[in-house]
Amino acid sequence: MALYAAAAAVLAGVESRQGSIKGLVYSSGFQNVKQLYALVCETQRYSAVLDAVIASAGLLRAEKKLRPHLAKVLVYELLLGKGFRGGGGRWKPVLGRHQARLKAELARLKVHRGVSRNEDLLEVESRPGSASQVPRFVRVNTLKTCCDDVVDYFKRQGFSYQGRASSLDDLRALKGKHFLLDPLLPELLVFPAQTDLHEHPLYQAGHFILQDKASCLPAMLLAAPPGSHVIDACAAPGNKTSHLAALLKNQGKIFAFDLDAKRLASMATLLARAGVSCCELAKEDFLAVSPSDPRYRQVRYILLDPSCSGSGMLTRQLEEPGAGTPSKERLRALAGFQQRALRHALTFPSLQRLVYSTCSLCQEENEDVVRDALQQHPGAFRLVPVLPSWPHRGLSTLPGAEHCLRASPETTLTGGFFIAVIERVEVPSLTG
Ligand code: SAM
Repeated sequence: MALYAAAAAVLAGVESRQGSIKGLVYSSGFQNVKQLYALVCETQRYSAVLDAVIASAGLLRAEKKLRPHLAKVLVYELLLGKGFRGGGGRWKPVLGRHQARLKAELARLKVHRGVSRNEDLLEVESRPGSASQVPRFVRVNTLKTCCDDVVDYFKRQGFSYQGRASSLDDLRALKGKHFLLDPLLPELLVFPAQTDLHEHPLYQAGHFILQDKASCLPAMLLAAPPGSHVIDACAAPGNKTSHLAALLKNQGKIFAFDLDAKRLASMATLLARAGVSCCELAKEDFLAVSPSDPRYRQVRYILLDPSCSGSGMLTRQLEEPGAGTPSKERLRALAGFQQRALRHALTFPSLQRLVYSTCSLCQEENEDVVRDALQQHPGAFRLVPVLPSWPHRGLSTLPGAEHCLRASPETTLTGGFFIAVIERVEVPSLTG
């Protein structure tokens, strides 16, 4: 096997926890183990930098046949290593087409992080503060107010409004008392990282919700029109439920389930503060909710945001850098529940569209769960392509993974997240 393919295979093996770098290098059958080991370690060391550069250059979107791990190795060689060895093989001309853009993105990253050498990027990356660069997102609660009124309030408080951002770079450059409208999401205002608005009177009154941008995507992508019946399967503490209700304009019905009584109690407070009136809260195991119950006959939309390892959560990354790896046992248990919940959701007879989301970075909780569920219903459901401009996509471990979204502080300036939008291929006719 050629060096780059072997290195990509080892990286993929490490990511899916098949073994350590050393073990996988030795069992790869590649002759020059020292050379392979060095290349894998270096690529791994720069992993987050490479992810950010590859995503912002749009490499994987442009080159559909190029697998993410191989892309990482090749971009390492091109930008950070000694250049392609042995001629670079068939990928050399492909990477050649993107070389200028990749170099420009690396240079931009260095300017943005205020460093001049490649190694200094590692230092910045390893600082616990890297996740702290994520801006403060403010979702305007349209059940109580509108964007213009919230913007005016902040302006009166001495903030300077810059209008709609045109790119993530505008968000990265935010400082002081400036704020923007997000380039992608309507009604999402963006303030500099560290802006603390928890005591703000409009927050206290439920006129805005402090919610990370990635966490605003599931309700938006579910796209349930006002009047719809929606299940929010694992709902507490309810930020996504309140967003769903706002998008429904409080018209229709949200059946919200959760197992945890305490979390449900704080959810009830949150929903009341947000002015939500279309939601029925129930302390129930979603797995025990019967799809044939006539109450759910008109449920065409389901949001499934199950318990997960939380490995992408910003607070975790800030408090405990590197805490993103749950144990194998925990991961197996979580993935088991997630699979059961997604399979169950897909059995609701009138279901048309479902959003599956987690704040985990682990393939086992994301792409693997979606692949399992789609395999259970061959041909009945499909992954829906969404947000074509979103730079970070699903890992290519299932057909259509490029339709899924991933998010991270480095690539999307948000917490770590995964989202898949699933749609029924044939729309069933409603009975009764
Ligand atoms: N969607 C919520 C939000 O945006 O605020 C966050 C949901 S949290 C990631 C997962 C929730 O699933 C937890 O509140 C947990 O109590 C609940 N949960 C776990 N197992 C459940 C089950 N079998 N049925 C219903 N809810 C469950």
